[in-house]
Amino acid sequence: MDRAERLSWLRETNEKRLEALWQIADRIRRESVGDAVHLRGLIEISNQCRRHCAYCGLRSTNTAARRYRMTREQILTIARQGVALGFKTIVLQSGEDSRNTPETIESLIRDIKAHADVAVTLSLGEYDYETYARWRKAGADRYLLRFETSDFGLFRSLHRSVGPGEHPRLTRLRWLKELGYEAGGGVMVGLPGQTYESLVDDLEWFAALDLDMIGIGPYIPNPDTPLGQFALSERLLHRDQVPATALMAYKMLALARIMVPLSNIPATTALEALGDGWMEGLQRGANVLMPKLTPPEMAGNYHIYPGWDGAAFEAEARMDNAVKVISALGRSIDETKGCSQVRVDWETRQKLKEHGNEPASD
Ligand code: SF4
Repeated sequence: MDRAERLSWLRETNEKRLEALWQIADRIRRESVGDAVHLRGLIEISNQCRRHCAYCGLRSTNTAARRYRMTREQILTIARQGVALGFKTIVLQSGEDSRNTPETIESLIRDIKAHADVAVTLSLGEYDYETYARWRKAGADRYLLRFETSDFGLFRSLHRSVGPGEHPRLTRLRWLKELGYEAGGGVMVGLPGQTYESLVDDLEWFAALDLDMIGIGPYIPNPDTPLGQFALSERLLHRDQVPATALMAYKMLALARIMVPLSNIPATTALEALGDGWMEGLQRGANVLMPKLTPPEMAGNYHIYPGWDGAAFEAEARMDNAVKVISALGRSIDETKGCSQVRVDWETRQKLKEHGNEPASD
């Protein structure tokens, strides 16, 4: 599929014709990564953040946010509960909390890995190369860092503290690959000012970075943020503005599967917030679900965007729901840590390059 075809699928709105796209993505998913669904247990360890991303309810200046920060003991207890529930991957996610020092996170990684043979995924934001290297050495297996949009002008308008130069998250995704992490990037679909052409660029970045994991969600306006308050004015927006709908996010998800067939792609919480996201995502290219282990009293305050009503449930209920969705689709739960097949493929190609044998497909 070439660039023009990808663009044409992104612009397609006829639901009957889109069935063909879902079927292609579902077939490629089945042939590339199989029917088993990976479950990742997500712990949102803190909603404190020093940054001001214009779309995010956790931004530091949002006084409406009710802040929390788990203690080390709470995190380890919840991780153990996750292991007892059967999760083979524990994901530690947080805003960019100044208390997430290189030392504290390193020690958490070591303790979780000492307790159980699980993969540890970090999703803690932007840090320097040395810190990522330290956490990798401590045993972290994966790192999620969504770049939200590869359009650097748009990215800078949403992240005012970012100066000219390189896209900081694309740069970090390269570092993470280099350090041997399974690296996960992703985008928000329907950001004010986002064009169809830029979404095609995003898809090309997924492939260029050999992303092991790709997270895609629709932009859901949060009224407690500057972007959420921004009145969508035809005058202000590009005429090629992408709509912020679940359907657009599904098209990106399906095309991401086609672009990077071996990647692990979740049906995201943002999709879940807009409807039957887990079920439909798994039928349109996704092969991962990330049920939250965060206790209800904290999950209810981890508001990047509004609308997700799963916070009221305990971890067991969220796990049961994931199992029901997977069973209803006749799929199975993966019993392994669900490591990246992109990584294996990437390492093989790196070795071939080092030995001067450039693979024909590269
Ligand atoms: S998107 Fe991440 S870094 Fe930005 S404000 Fe939200 S939690 Fe902080």
